[in-house]
Amino acid sequence: MFAERYRSHHDAEAKLASILGLYAHSRSGTVDWEDVERPLYSAPPSGRRCIYIHIPYCDTICEFCNLNRTARGHTDLDAYTKYLIKEIEWYARYPYIRDGQFDAIYFGGGTPTILQTEQLSLVLRALRDSFHLSEDCEITLESTLHNLPAEKSARLQQEGVNRLSLGVQTFSSRGRSFLGRTGDAEYAIARLRAIRQLFSGVLGIDIIYSYFDQSLEEVAHDASLCSDLSLDGASFYSLMIHDGSSLGQRIAKGEIPFGRSLEDDRQRHNRFYEDMHAGGYEMLELSKLVRPGRDEYRYIRIRYENGDVLPIGAGAGGQLAGYRIYSMAQGRRFASKIEPAYAQYHRVLGHLQFGCYDLTTLSEELGPDSYAPLRERMDYFVRNGMLVPETDDLYTLTADGIFWGNNIAVDILKAAIDGTKEHH
Ligand code: SF4
Repeated sequence: MFAERYRSHHDAEAKLASILGLYAHSRSGTVDWEDVERPLYSAPPSGRRCIYIHIPYCDTICEFCNLNRTARGHTDLDAYTKYLIKEIEWYARYPYIRDGQFDAIYFGGGTPTILQTEQLSLVLRALRDSFHLSEDCEITLESTLHNLPAEKSARLQQEGVNRLSLGVQTFSSRGRSFLGRTGDAEYAIARLRAIRQLFSGVLGIDIIYSYFDQSLEEVAHDASLCSDLSLDGASFYSLMIHDGSSLGQRIAKGEIPFGRSLEDDRQRHNRFYEDMHAGGYEMLELSKLVRPGRDEYRYIRIRYENGDVLPIGAGAGGQLAGYRIYSMAQGRRFASKIEPAYAQYHRVLGHLQFGCYDLTTLSEELGPDSYAPLRERMDYFVRNGMLVPETDDLYTLTADGIFWGNNIAVDILKAAIDGTKEHH
């Protein structure tokens, strides 16, 4: 049905933007900081918003990773902590940022827990001193297992961290070795058990499937351990081979006998999803399964809703008052205006990430002329086993539908936009 799979929200957004010719618009709006500053001197708007803090350092670089990170080397982490605090205080000069409430904070990387507990505590205190955090503010930290001894997770919880996202990737020793993870399966299980005992907040992990020649039994083993370890959720991704990565280069040279088909991917994806579903987990977004009622993942909801995201740290991206902001390096920011059309499709695509296709909401957002083409495409995906009609206007995704979720989202949006254009 589809020749290639859009594996992430970013893939889908890039495809949709190119179909719509929006990239040119969204990139053409580079502006001076004075333009961004103007609305920041006004009062904050209503609506949920969040803070993203980037820690771009890791102990070592994983072969499969294309995130914005660098090996820690001899980096002075005290100096980086001071830089983060300075940037927090600098942003607090603006009423738009200082006077409104923040509902979620996300420490991403890199490896945020490469900072010592004391350093993270200083950053958290600076955030509290400078901004209004909601009483139940969601505070997430990403980490590897080896950077987070259980005692550290408990101390961070005392400092307000209430959500952890840990890069486990797999519980197979063979897979861990292939993916260059620290420690074997026994190590990973013992470390997670210890964290689970001392950390009572939301505990989720990242899982990679379709690495090397992963068997369906290995996929099932990963899913069963999520339940056994009482984890609150798992994000699951097919291993991505990026052209420039060292893994991509080794595969290209034939050093790793790596071959897989989309059908292999689909089978492993569906096995993980179905086993997790049977274990009581439900879909939160296309690549995230959670225990009902345990993990709101407010940060990602705010991002998909187009809420403001205050970016702190080198390599952090966010948006404020209709401007996209990217901190390229310490003290160097790049800002561009977000086109209203881009914002609209970002929001609709975000809505579709949650796997619930509400025809009424979508046609309200995209215009009444979109209703018929949307209905036609949804019926098509029902006939092909990817959507299930729940009510007259509401559809949910099957396991296959989740696997192809980003393709389906692009397909129906394109049909709606084409249909609307034809009508005019
Ligand atoms: S630890 Fe995480 S962020 Fe760092 S290189 Fe590995 S996968 Fe990437």
